[in-house]
Amino acid sequence: MLTVVACPQCRVPAEITETFSLPSTDGPVAHVAVGCAAGHHFRMAADRLPAPPPAHPLVLPRAGLGMARPAVGGGR
Ligand SMILES: [Zn+2]
Repeated sequence: MLTVVACPQCRVPAEITETFSLPSTDGPVAHVAVGCAAGHHFRMAADRLPAPPPAHPLVLPRAGLGMARPAVGGGR
């Protein structure tokens, strides 16, 4: 599964190439390996990514779709 996020450093599209978990005092923490189009590579906790993973349906803004749609007949 291809997951694209923003590069933590340069904000270009980056691909999550690997997901893994590391133990912590609070239990396993999800980590990701990210490689961006500019050649940066990061390994970091998944919850520290600049954008939330698209797997969360709650972050899909239904109202945002209406805002992006140009108003019809709504001139000034
Ligand atoms: Zn980058």
